[in-house]
Amino acid sequence: MNKIDIRSYSYGELQEWCEQIGEKKFRATQIYDWLHVKLAESFAEMSNLPKSLRQKLNDKCECTTLKIVDVQISKIDGTRKYLFELPDSNIIESVWMEYKHGNSVCTSSQVGCRMGCSFCASTIDGLVRGLMPSEMLEQIYQIQKHTGKRVSNVVVMGSGEPFDNYDNLIAFIKILTDEHGLHISQRNITVSTCGIVPNIKKFADEQLAVTLALSLHASNNDKRKKLMPVANKYSLDEVIEACDYFYNKTGRRVTFEYSLVGGINDTDRDASELVSMLKGKNCHINLIPVNPIKERKFVQSDRKVIENFKNKLEKSGINVTIRREMGRDIDGACGQLRKRYMQSKKVKEE
Ligand code: SAH
Repeated sequence: MNKIDIRSYSYGELQEWCEQIGEKKFRATQIYDWLHVKLAESFAEMSNLPKSLRQKLNDKCECTTLKIVDVQISKIDGTRKYLFELPDSNIIESVWMEYKHGNSVCTSSQVGCRMGCSFCASTIDGLVRGLMPSEMLEQIYQIQKHTGKRVSNVVVMGSGEPFDNYDNLIAFIKILTDEHGLHISQRNITVSTCGIVPNIKKFADEQLAVTLALSLHASNNDKRKKLMPVANKYSLDEVIEACDYFYNKTGRRVTFEYSLVGGINDTDRDASELVSMLKGKNCHINLIPVNPIKERKFVQSDRKVIENFKNKLEKSGINVTIRREMGRDIDGACGQLRKRYMQSKKVKEE
């Protein structure tokens, strides 16, 4: 019999389950507190539960926990990159960043990715599987324990496409923001997608106060198709329309991410097209100087080109920032650290 992944249960589901096994409802509050506030790693730790219930939990459930296999700490800004081992031995990575306004964790939503964006390291070996809610939560829990500091912001911008693991993503957000758990504010959560249109709309209908980030990276369909295979399925018009839908439904301003790739999407013409696409919208553009990966030939745009691009957007009244590069001295781009670890493991095994 497969054991229950109890850390993936919402508060309501846990209450129902306790009733089903003949336990009082308040036991659910205690168990939830151990799993999502005290961040327990085993049922044996749950000292205010009767021994018989701890035994029941042990027999029927898994207390899903991630193991830290490596931590790299940036000497420049203290950013930390974590490599975690999942219960089935797969490896994922997460990032911890300290800002003035709080501490932020960048979480992975899948092992690998099948979206195929040409500048991204996470997708090179394809998708292995989506992460369970418990495995997304545990990235945050382990980091909070390891740093000893409270996590206030979460960005689902690590490896994987969150909208390709939709139900688990929603369950993760609900558990993370539940008042009985870590109770992170929905406003402090950002989900980044390459633009899976039906799920953007579905996400809007969930009525969560979460920020949506859309990976745009190009201002016309031809260029976008070259960088992002998903653009063959959904046109820019459809993607923008879905973002408008999200804004109208939630009142929350969408962030458009635009990774600047030297000579590819950083020309004056690209900037002008971007302006005509987004002018007048209540949105925000985050320019990301591309993080070159060794498997591809892409280079960063010159600093001056980046500044010019930004000025052009700003002059048209568009709200724009350039993403600060955090942890430049540790394997930067998402998926790179995992990839290097997997390669070195393979060499050792051969
Ligand atoms: N699948 C989600 C999350 C991806 S990671 C998405 O597509 O949005 C978050 C952002 O980093 C995305 O905008 C992604 O396109 C971008 N990104 C990935 N690799 C990058 C690299 N090497 N340099 C710059 N940006 C990159």
